[in-house]
Amino acid sequence: MSEYSNPSAELRARVALEKYRFKNTHSLGQNFLLSESLISLLLDDAEISPEDSVLEIGPGAGVMTRLLGERAKRVLAVEVDRGLEPVLADVLEGLSNVRVVFQDVMKADLRVLTGESFGGEGYRVVANLPYYITADILLKLAGSDCPPESICIMVQKEAAERVMSRPGTKQWCALAAELQYYGRAQVLTDVAPEAFDPPPHVMSQFIRIDRWDVPPVQPADPALFRRLIRAAFAMRRKTLVNNLKASFGMSQENARQAMIEAGLDERVRGEALTLEELSRVCDAMRS
Ligand code: SAM
Repeated sequence: MSEYSNPSAELRARVALEKYRFKNTHSLGQNFLLSESLISLLLDDAEISPEDSVLEIGPGAGVMTRLLGERAKRVLAVEVDRGLEPVLADVLEGLSNVRVVFQDVMKADLRVLTGESFGGEGYRVVANLPYYITADILLKLAGSDCPPESICIMVQKEAAERVMSRPGTKQWCALAAELQYYGRAQVLTDVAPEAFDPPPHVMSQFIRIDRWDVPPVQPADPALFRRLIRAAFAMRRKTLVNNLKASFGMSQENARQAMIEAGLDERVRGEALTLEELSRVCDAMRS
């Protein structure tokens, strides 16, 4: 079939963006990926298959959304910008397994959102999102009561380095600790600024985080553990005892006692601790 009777996703998007005179909104981080060959490589790396239900966050002009629709069982795309509605309607025309919802994903209830489309079945997330919401969205997904089976997301290279960081390094942070508790993170590929339209001023990496079947630590209270991780890094120069007092209202004596029970020096800083050590503190806080 010729390209004109079955246009590529990229051509569909370019025509629709022009037809509706779409103007990218800088404040929404609208740096689009239009190259079908690049997106195909990303989805190959992400191993998106016909069994997958995919939540795409921020479909933009919909090239990736269309390719996801052609590969996956079904796709739910959540976009905040209603101005993209006619563009997405044109680009996704004919795909009955793709649903687009116009909503701010940060305000969405993930259980309701994914329940409506996926009926409670497992799902995977794919996203090329504005970099200023990377950390918030990753924490929202990983800490959700219906977390995805995996997250494949484009991030600024520096953010990828933070996500992969190890305890004891300068970059080890609450984001890394929470995400490494959620799953196994890996960099899939580097992506240069020129791949985007318009190009951002930073290098990007497409990363994948697969949720653990069995997490590396198993604190008795996972919600408390997440709060503890955030508290541990809240004031980086303070000892964990001081952060426990400030964040949980614990007395000096109870905070010290938790450290002793966890087998840790009471002068240690939270930012120096491994997931294993933080998990021991978490369980000691409950006793
Ligand atoms: N995924 C598309 C691509 O690769 O071309 C678009 C990428 S662009 C970097 C980010 C997209 O996320 C934009 O379409 C933007 O409007 C959308 N977006 C920004 N904030 C959002 C939010 N809070 N909820 C849902 N979508 C959002």
